[in-house]
Amino acid sequence: MERTISEPSRPHGPQSGPRFTLHHCQPRADKLDARQRRLCHADSGFKEALRSRVKSPARFSAFMDGAAYYIALERPCAKCGNFKKRTRDRSCYRCHLNRGGENFERMRMGLAPKVQRSKDGHLDLVERKRAEREGEYLERNFGDLSARCFPLGRLEITFPDGFRQADLSKLSYREMVNAIREYPALKDALTWANWTLPFVPDEA
Ligand SMILES: [Zn+2]
Repeated sequence: MERTISEPSRPHGPQSGPRFTLHHCQPRADKLDARQRRLCHADSGFKEALRSRVKSPARFSAFMDGAAYYIALERPCAKCGNFKKRTRDRSCYRCHLNRGGENFERMRMGLAPKVQRSKDGHLDLVERKRAEREGEYLERNFGDLSARCFPLGRLEITFPDGFRQADLSKLSYREMVNAIREYPALKDALTWANWTLPFVPDEA
């Protein structure tokens, strides 16, 4: 742990909006998130208190720059040997990316639908098969994206340029990440269709 035992430094000067927020958020090195970055920009007292808790200067400057990872040559990952660490929590950046991809691949291989199926029970499946046969689907637009969700789980997306992806589960993890980066509204469509959102790494 990187936490020190000293008290967090108190803000100075008159009360203001960000200072008030500060009372609800202590500087914490174990999870450097966007909220703490906002506080750092708003309050130098908070920033210095946090800086004193973050052992690695490289990590702290990556955090202030909004960079997703920093390099820790002295601490290679025990699992993969990589030197990149996540700025957020110091975990291995490469393992983190792989994990996002693996989870998504598992989901694509049908783990999520299987769980769903046993929960809903056999009768519901029969009913959904019937609806699928009869061509029923739900349709909704998300910005310029159009999504159709079919009873057995197939998700069809028509992109703003008119390209139609008839079965989104055919996309690889990479393709899905690229599609979400290009069309952020795709996330809303996935959520609407009850899909697990794939992990989309910060672009570095
Ligand atoms: Zn690793």
